[in-house]
Amino acid sequence: MSAFTDTSFKGLKALVRVDFNVPLDENFQVTDDTRMTAALPTIRKILSDGGSVILMSHLGRPKDGPTDKFSLKHLLPHLQQLLGAGTTLLFAGDCIGQSAVDAAAGLRPGQVLLLENLRFYKEEEKGDRGFAEKLSKLGDVYVNDAFGTAHRAHASTAVIADFFPAGKKFFGLLMEGEVSSAEKVLHKAEKPFVAIIGGAKVSDKILIIENLLERATDIIIGGGMAYTFCKAKGGQIGNSLCEEDRLQTAMDILEKAEKKGVNIHLPSDSVIADKFDAHANTSTAPSNHIPEGWMGLDIGINACGQFANVIHKSKTILWNGPMGVFEMHNFQHGTKAVAQAIAEATRNGAFSLVGGGDSVSAVNQFGFSDDVSYVSTGGGAMLEFFEGKELPGIAAIKK
Ligand code: AMP
Repeated sequence: MSAFTDTSFKGLKALVRVDFNVPLDENFQVTDDTRMTAALPTIRKILSDGGSVILMSHLGRPKDGPTDKFSLKHLLPHLQQLLGAGTTLLFAGDCIGQSAVDAAAGLRPGQVLLLENLRFYKEEEKGDRGFAEKLSKLGDVYVNDAFGTAHRAHASTAVIADFFPAGKKFFGLLMEGEVSSAEKVLHKAEKPFVAIIGGAKVSDKILIIENLLERATDIIIGGGMAYTFCKAKGGQIGNSLCEEDRLQTAMDILEKAEKKGVNIHLPSDSVIADKFDAHANTSTAPSNHIPEGWMGLDIGINACGQFANVIHKSKTILWNGPMGVFEMHNFQHGTKAVAQAIAEATRNGAFSLVGGGDSVSAVNQFGFSDDVSYVSTGGGAMLEFFEGKELPGIAAIKK
């Protein structure tokens, strides 16, 4: 049982940092409410205990203080719908200052107060202590449920926790799920442990691969970044994506892996195209023999089998990054095949964690989100966690 679940919030005003940074259309309608629904279990638990909830969040990247476009007031109708008509939802047009203080003071058990966008104050992103202290005064306890911003040392995500003693600061249920899944994979992985890393660029994933070399049994490298590795090994990759300035890094990773006994798997073959286009002419080729004028845009059919074999044998699976240009129909088969293999392995008892923007969109798009053990909501935060960094939002609560 967790600290949050074990605590009764009866009579308490809980200041809850959520990540309501959701996409809005031109009429300010929420187009994807995943982040809002993800925070509901935490909100509901506090309310059902007989507490009240003060929600704080950022929305977008306002540059010059209050801007109507970035006001959290636009979320009110949708949030009210999610909370249900029986819950009173209030709004404060500021996150600090008298209006926020008065609104928080008047809040009654069972009610929810949404504060205005934290990033209307530049102090938020600067991690200003004075600003964090003002926010802290609004509630009796602090709950961080914003995993998506846990890698930022902002006032509301980290600094604010200094103003609450142990026992008065908590991870919310979403944050708890994220942290315990990520820790399970990074620190308590049952072997064999395979990390599947894909996406466009080697440079974005070097730190994560280096950290995983210390922990994983197997590392599968797919997507555009695989071709830099293929070229580093002396292969011909035609016009495939290649970071010339990372060829040495790729070699170093391959050597380190060999020394450590970590198996690195590169796609044996690729789906190739004569241009980067959904309607390009396509063919298949060994990934280290791609003809000039052609580029690898997905892993090939043999590579799908090769990767599925490794995945099926694994007890712990981490997936970050697509295997190909999955946004285009002709190049999504590899990503789908990997998602499918992960789903099968999970059904057979493996623990699987999918993290990072594009692989999360892929499992959702292909309908596998219920077939993996955990789908992370925090792209950048999850990446930094797996790079081995201490996330300020997590450290602040544990301190
Ligand atoms: P990342 O943000 O680094 O995880 O990269 C995700 C992007 O990589 C997606 O938009 C994919 O379309 C792209 N991608 C995956 N495989 C390839 C490839 N073989 N060539 C070019 N782009 C790719």
